[in-house]
Amino acid sequence: MSPPRNGTLANSAGTRDAGRLYDVLVIGGGPSGSSCAYWLAEAGWDVALVEKKVFPREKTCGDGLTPRAVRQIADMGLEDSLSGAHRYTGLRAHAYGKVIEMAWPEHPSFPSHGYVITRHDLDAIVNERASKAGATVWQGTEAIEPILQADSDAPLQAGSGTTLRLPSCVGAIVKDKATGEKREVRARYVVVADGANSRFGRALGTSRNRARPMGMALRGYYTSPMHDDPFIESHLDIRDGEGNVVPGYGWIFPLGDGRVNVGVGLLSTDRRWKGVNTSTLMDHFVSWAPKDWGLSPATCLGPPTGGKLPMGLAVGPRIGSTTLVVGDAGGTINPFNGEGISYGYETGRLAAASLGEALRGDGYAALERYEARLEEAYGLYYRVARAFIRMISQPELMKLCVGTGMYSESLMTWILRIMANLLRPDEVGPAEAAYRAMATIARLIPEPS
Ligand SMILES: Cc1cc2nc3c(=O)[nH]c(=O)nc-3n(C[C@H](O)[C@H](O)[C@H](O)COP(=O)(O)OP(=O)(O)OC[C@H]3O[C@@H](n4cnc5c(N)ncnc54)[C@H](O)[C@@H]3O)c2cc1C
Repeated sequence: MSPPRNGTLANSAGTRDAGRLYDVLVIGGGPSGSSCAYWLAEAGWDVALVEKKVFPREKTCGDGLTPRAVRQIADMGLEDSLSGAHRYTGLRAHAYGKVIEMAWPEHPSFPSHGYVITRHDLDAIVNERASKAGATVWQGTEAIEPILQADSDAPLQAGSGTTLRLPSCVGAIVKDKATGEKREVRARYVVVADGANSRFGRALGTSRNRARPMGMALRGYYTSPMHDDPFIESHLDIRDGEGNVVPGYGWIFPLGDGRVNVGVGLLSTDRRWKGVNTSTLMDHFVSWAPKDWGLSPATCLGPPTGGKLPMGLAVGPRIGSTTLVVGDAGGTINPFNGEGISYGYETGRLAAASLGEALRGDGYAALERYEARLEEAYGLYYRVARAFIRMISQPELMKLCVGTGMYSESLMTWILRIMANLLRPDEVGPAEAAYRAMATIARLIPEPS
């Protein structure tokens, strides 16, 4: 059955859609929301997306795209649009005085290069793609309140009061940020893609599982003579004010336009690291980074900004009878490396596939398939990552793990393949074998709930 079109509508705010029922309303136009809207519109569904900011807009990020993200961008027909961005070939890891350069591995499903591009530019490109595919996009429009079905299924509660399934949401009250005008947008299904803070998701009943990992990160821009370096750089032994190595890393990502993106990320799950001030960590990192990058207060382009990284499927529930939650709003960041853009694109796409099936008649059963698809794509991998995070939160174990890895380029290359989720399905090399061993152990260790 081909999807019905409900007619056309100009991509502008207004009240012309009063009474119109969209197939899907997407809340948020970042990677996850724009990808979901693109794949739905491409399949012919009538989709509306509201984004509270106006593109191009700033978004605090390291701006690093791995091969996983590039694959999704290429699948949306957009890799040519990145021709002005900085293309890079691999990762340079620094730790305990040692340096290893690793090219991205050959892989049957992913390219062997990445890009560094500001989210200011990237998110505008992807959102425009969704709009050109037929999605109705309202920028400068904030979803301020969910519309629940009058005969709404009550949110399903566990004995502890935890929500297991979101209530039936059939749209949102949205506010035009320029005029203050409020109106209703109604849809058969609603996708929550409003990022790490996810106020809309929280209003529906999502919450973060505090036993799962959470990151805090800070980034700033600097001018640098190495702005077009072919490697992105990670420092795996960043230290707090007392010189203690902390679980996290510092990065320098070259943008190719005279600037580099510099940042620090810290796993804040463990109580011991909650008190670490990321601004102090960033100051230490900048003063300590290799001098060739030329980082200093004189080359700093402005104060750093920060944000949260909900990881390892930490936020749920991610389904309701008419609702799916994607990207950071569902805590989909990879705990191994803090990468979230590709997982935003991927979960937006997985949600679009399930919504297509729901709209074709499978209803809620198709939405449940979204959770099954997440489990299939990330379930075991994220379980291994969470076990890894618990391990590196012990300073001695982290030093042993990173320190040992830095003695062997081939070992570090396997670790890179595991951490960037670039294991090959078609052959079992040392990285795949190491991952299988880790997975066997992770399956046996009970997780804190
Ligand atoms: C400092 C830092 C560095 C990072 N570096 C990297 C990196 O180098 N590479 C990487 O892959 N990942 C990185 N990440 C993670 C990455 O930024 C996120 O995982 C990614 O942005 C998630 O995409 P998203 O679409 O789910 O959410 P977002 O990108 O946050 O998009 C959500 C969108 O929803 C909009 N919105 C919010 N509420 C509403 C509302 N009520 N109504 C309408 N619109 C709304 C917001 O304006 C925003 O545009 C970093 C994160 C941080 C904090």
